[in-house]
Formats: sequence, structure tokens, C-alpha cells
Amino acid sequence: MICYDYINEYVRQTIKSNDGILSELENFARKYHVPIIEPEVAKLLLVLGRLAKPKRILEVGTAIGYSSILLSSVLEPGGIIDTIERYELMIEKAKENIKKAGLESTIHVIGGEAFEVLRCLDKKYDMVFLDAAKGQYGEFLPECLRMLNPGGLLVSDNVLYKGMVASDKLVVRRKKTIVRRMRDYLHQICNHELLETSILPVGDGVAISYRK
Ligand code: SAH
Ligand code: MG
Repeated sequence: MICYDYINEYVRQTIKSNDGILSELENFARKYHVPIIEPEVAKLLLVLGRLAKPKRILEVGTAIGYSSILLSSVLEPGGIIDTIERYELMIEKAKENIKKAGLESTIHVIGGEAFEVLRCLDKKYDMVFLDAAKGQYGEFLPECLRMLNPGGLLVSDNVLYKGMVASDKLVVRRKKTIVRRMRDYLHQICNHELLETSILPVGDGVAISYRK
């Protein structure tokens, strides 16, 4: 989280811990430094998911499958998740975890570079979760909007990027381009005629956009 520590700590301790496979994956992620969504973001996704009642979800950035397994719980009956990942080791791990969770027929991992995969996909989704390649969200946007149904939700993670997006003082030199691109992206989704967007300082910053 990127606001006051005492608030973060308080909010964090309100969240009941997971058990089963989600808890296992959290331990794995901690041990091997896999950047899965934080507990506050997980809760936000679950609430948004309950409201949106998606039948089809598209995720960019699978990693070990944690957020897709989490999101599978908000799918309408018969719903599916397509999730994109480019890193072979992660793809293997995600497939293994999805199988372990008994969700092979629900969650489809699509291997490849997100932009290329998005360009080739021609399906409709009720919810899109962007959680990969922060510098490319702006390129992903038209593809996501093309596939997002009216009334659907676009949720973008890490949009405040350790606070750097909100303050030049925090920007380290090698992240300048990513930060500039993220600001452009936020400007786009906040001013897009098809979107109603809210940016929340939860986790590493989450933008929620409703597609009109
Ligand atoms: N959503 C996951 C975490 C994703 S971490 C969760 O919360 O459980 C981001 C992942 O995106 C990493 O595994 C990384 O390999 C992948 N990634 C980054 N850039 C990508 C790109 N351009 N195309 C496809 N995958 C990408
Ligand atoms: Mg993230």
C-alpha cells in the first residue's frame, strides 16, 4: 500500500487469511518473490467481481495463477477466465496450480507476449484485469476496450507504481519512461468517453474503469 503505514496495517489486519491453495500460493509467492496481488487488492477484486457478475474474464499477467484462481470464485456458472503470460516458467507453474485447484476447464492460460495475444484475440469479456507490463497499458487499452462488453469492468493494477506516478520526487531514473507512460494511460482512462474511472491508492494503486 502507498498511504500511511498505520492505515495500511489496520486495513491489512481486517482481512481474514486464506486457506487451501490460495494460502499455498501466497507462501510460494513470498518465498520466490512473485509479485501477486496484495490482500487488499484481492478483496477489492472479489467485491468488484461480485458486483460485475462476470461470465468471462480476461487477465493480462498470470504469474503463478493466484489472481485467476481467486477470480474464478466470482464467475457466473459456466464462466471462464482467459489469462495471458509470456514467461514459460510461470506458464508451467500456473497450469500446475490451476490443475491442482481443479480449474483446468475454467481458466485458460494463453502463452505469449500480451500485446500480440490481445491483438489476435477476438472474444468478448465482462471484466478485464491488467496486471503486467506497466509500460504497455496504453497499448493494451484499445484491444481491451474492443473486447470489453458495455457494462463491463476494466481493472488496472500497479497504476501508482510505488507512488512514483504521483510524485516526481520518488521517480528513479530507470523508471522514468514507465512512469510517464503510466501517467499517459491514467490520463486516457480518466478522459475516455466510454469509461468512468476511479483511481484508488490501494495496494500499488488500482484503477477501476466502468465501460459505459
Ligand atoms: N496477476 C498475477 C500477478 C502477475 S505478475 C497475480 O496477482 O497472481 C505479472 C506477470 O506478467 C509476470 O508473471 C510477468 O511474466 C508477466 N508479464 C509481464 N509483461 C508481460 C507481457 N508483455 N506479456 C505477457 N506477460 C507479461
Ligand atoms: Mg500487480
